Amino acid sequence: MAMKIDAGTCSVCGACEFECPNVAIRMKGDSFTINAKKCNECEGHADTPQCIEVCPSDSIVQA
Ligand code: SF4
Ligand code: SF4
Repeated sequence: MAMKIDAGTCSVCGACEFECPNVAIRMKGDSFTINAKKCNECEGHADTPQCIEVCPSDSIVQA
């Protein structure tokens, strides 16, 4: 399973990119996207998806 970013509500603040232990979040064009192959929902790193914890606009949801 992986997370995905709702580009409609994402403010492109960049906070999630730095929290991801798997470097799964990248700027693509003018929006952030999550590489589903790299995202493991932070398993082994934290109890909860760290990108969701830091997102100020609740733009990250289960894919
Ligand atoms: S859930 Fe964790 S591994 Fe997946 S994109 Fe968010 S911070 Fe990265
Ligand atoms: S933390 Fe949320 S609002 Fe900021 S870039 Fe990531 S998904 Fe977008």
